[in-house]
Amino acid sequence: MQLAEPQDFERVLSSMCTEPHPAARDAAERFLATNPGDPGTYESVATLEERAVGLLGEVTGHPDPEGYVASGGTEANIQAVRIARNRADTDDPNVVAPTSAHFSFTKAADLLGVELRTAPTTDHRADPAAMSRLVDDDTVCVVAVAGSTEYGYVDPVPALADLAHDAGALCHVDAAWGGFALPFTDHEWHFGHADVDTMTIDPHKMGQAAIPAGGLLVRSRALLDELAIQTPYLESTSQVTLTGTRSGAGVASAVAAMEALWSEGYREQYRASMDNAEWLADRLAARGHAVVEPELPLVAADLSVPMTEELRSRGWRVTKTGAGEMRVVCMPHVTRSMLRSFVADLDWY
Ligand SMILES: *Cc1c(COP(=O)(O)O)cnc(C)c1O
Repeated sequence: MQLAEPQDFERVLSSMCTEPHPAARDAAERFLATNPGDPGTYESVATLEERAVGLLGEVTGHPDPEGYVASGGTEANIQAVRIARNRADTDDPNVVAPTSAHFSFTKAADLLGVELRTAPTTDHRADPAAMSRLVDDDTVCVVAVAGSTEYGYVDPVPALADLAHDAGALCHVDAAWGGFALPFTDHEWHFGHADVDTMTIDPHKMGQAAIPAGGLLVRSRALLDELAIQTPYLESTSQVTLTGTRSGAGVASAVAAMEALWSEGYREQYRASMDNAEWLADRLAARGHAVVEPELPLVAADLSVPMTEELRSRGWRVTKTGAGEMRVVCMPHVTRSMLRSFVADLDWY
């Protein structure tokens, strides 16, 4: 029988994940058979997880971070909403987010019995005034997106943190995708810039770790303790994660990627990816397409639907925004020569 092969990345312009860094790939393989969900048994991977959280703290301006390596941004967002709900004193909790928030918040709301209220964005960014109209005494969390899934745009985090705290709610920043690019920009997005309480930042996206490696960080241990449940048959007495058995490969690869790339490697990658995004945006604009100016390495433009279908039939993997624009995510595997042949195919069409 012939072995199935994974896709190659040569024409993948749609993914928020990428080829893992070689050191991350190697570490993932070495730690495949470890379970950080049982730290008493799997001690070395538990130590690596502390290292991962420490490194994530460096990336996000937090000198004394707490958190863990989650299965992805979805789990981290669910857990952030769970922290906010558990700590609040209300029978009817709600979360206020911009419409640009990732669909994982819909899952969180459904699972946790929390109402999700979304406010329209202005120029693809959260509008604090529109969000403030949705905040009330039962608001437990205000969500800011730092690098939106559709456009790669960054919300005004300090204003949204103020909004949260005026309401006695927590401020959660979702930097699942943008977190490893934002340190090299002027955006104010992290624990050092504003009173952020919880944050999602995924090593398995821009961080170049192997899947599954998401990250949940919290300002203080007390927030993480909101998630603690008792674990009668493990050596450790409580657990804060959503999953039980979980991937040591994700943890080890996250550490390996960050040790290899933080900070100069990520900076160089950000520059190259951003250059590519700007190059593509210019080429598309020159061909008469309305382009959403890239803020992080993600380009959206109003190509016609038949055109995106034609590109797909030529092997290109591109996706669309909710508004129907074509979306190209300039991840590390996306090179200038790939984009050149992509534009050549556009011209052919
Ligand atoms: C990808 C993404 C998520 C979800 O992360 P997964 O790892 O796919 O679960 C959440 N928020 C944002 C902004 C994302 O880009």
